[in-house]
Amino acid sequence: MQKENKIEEISRRRGFFWTSSEIYGGLSGFYDYAHLGTALKNKWENIWRKFFLGLDDNFFEISPTEIMHEKVWQASGHVESFVDPVVKCKKCGNVERADKLLEEHLKESFEGISLNDLAEVIKKNNVKCPKCKGPLEEIGVLNLMFPVMIGNDVKAYLRGETAQGAYVNFNREFECLRKKLPLGLAIIGRAYRNEISPRNLLIRMREFTQAELQIFFDSEKIEQHSKFAEIKNYKLHVYPTKNRDDNKTNQVTCEEMTKHLPEFYVFHMAKVQQFFFDVLKIPKEIFRFKELSDEEKAFYNKYHWDIEIKLESLGGFVEVGGVHYRTDHDLSGHQKFSKQDLSVFADNKRLVPHVLELSFGVDRNIYALLELSYKEDKERTFFAFPRALSPFDCAVFPLVNKDGLDKKAEEIKALMKQRFSVFYDDSGSIGRRYRRMDEIGVPLSVTCDHQTLDDKTVTIRDRDTMKQVRVKITNLNEVLQRFLEGEELESLGVPVKKFIGNDE
Ligand code: AMP
Repeated sequence: MQKENKIEEISRRRGFFWTSSEIYGGLSGFYDYAHLGTALKNKWENIWRKFFLGLDDNFFEISPTEIMHEKVWQASGHVESFVDPVVKCKKCGNVERADKLLEEHLKESFEGISLNDLAEVIKKNNVKCPKCKGPLEEIGVLNLMFPVMIGNDVKAYLRGETAQGAYVNFNREFECLRKKLPLGLAIIGRAYRNEISPRNLLIRMREFTQAELQIFFDSEKIEQHSKFAEIKNYKLHVYPTKNRDDNKTNQVTCEEMTKHLPEFYVFHMAKVQQFFFDVLKIPKEIFRFKELSDEEKAFYNKYHWDIEIKLESLGGFVEVGGVHYRTDHDLSGHQKFSKQDLSVFADNKRLVPHVLELSFGVDRNIYALLELSYKEDKERTFFAFPRALSPFDCAVFPLVNKDGLDKKAEEIKALMKQRFSVFYDDSGSIGRRYRRMDEIGVPLSVTCDHQTLDDKTVTIRDRDTMKQVRVKITNLNEVLQRFLEGEELESLGVPVKKFIGNDE
């Protein structure tokens, strides 16, 4: 079975995610997160919050609405130019996204290519309709925005990106806060795009979650960042446009990067990479920043590097986020359309701030996490999630449901639940229960057995190594905390002579 299918199968069986509105046949491009997926996504979002809001005392999270005024999207350019190229089959009428269809067919990128050129490539390579093999003829564009009606006559849009919520709220927040730049406004929330060909589970959906940080700053200070010295020797994994032919990723120090990009921009690239390496524990060799060419990058971005992760199931690198220098495009656009003065007084002058956007697709990151953590060996399949990201922090079991062990295990669960997310399971053999926890990625299991009643100790088992040690019940919360922070199991307790349940 292909990896993508395996992940889909476990997700449906165990409860990570599945198709939305399934009992009515499902809705393409829409997925519901189930109990495990929701827990995983919440953990990811909280870790993102902690890391990125922690970068500066003047960074805050806001929660704007998802339905926004029509004018917001006219001013931003979405109504007119947020379009994808599409091609229609003459025989069956199937509509496909033209650039992605060619990408799948010819294994190269066609992002940002003109409609005429796309039509030419389709003709030259004799690309047919993937559904009926009929001729692909009409090429055109389709707008991705979802319009909604408020009452009978007021038109609005579901937001196509979270970012606009930060731009339209910027002036009020600037006034409420310290009237100081840089000011960061983060939004974690849904975005809606009427994608023509949703694909690959959580990778291309019509309703998805973004985590974005908009940093408003004085453009005259783009060549400096007060903490740059801390990262100047840190090496970024970069894939500039000039490397496209030999497909090579370079490791370049931040200082070296400032020959090509401003210090303020490079500093935030370093922070993004540290988030992926140190917090999400993504293997370094499958991560890169990809520079977009002038044709590929969004027209309002002066500098645009995508954040990419290599995924086996997608046959290569996939965009999971981006670092975008959007200049004053958005605030100036809204200033013009709303006829409101959006300039502010900061650094002894009036200015319209520029924006650096750190943008992340949460669902793509969740999918990457599932795929990269998925392991199988002779005995079992399991998700080796980074401990701090697992859907539950730990599981608690009584070895058997009698002799008072069940009561003791309930007590332990209550003790641990005050601080951690705990899954309690008392059904089936102990071996089966361990396997179940492995399969949903719970990093540590606590088993209460007959010895527990004598000496008030329990067995704890590490999901990844399957090793077991004994610890005192009174130390359990502290032990779990240390384990989640990365300590080895062996240093947390007394080795167990014979492991139970691993070979069932
Ligand atoms: P963009 O505003 O297009 O730069 O998107 C920001 C991020 O959202 C991208 O880097 C992706 O990770 C994610 N994203 C964009 N479109 C989709 C989609 N249709 N489904 C899931 N994630 C998406």
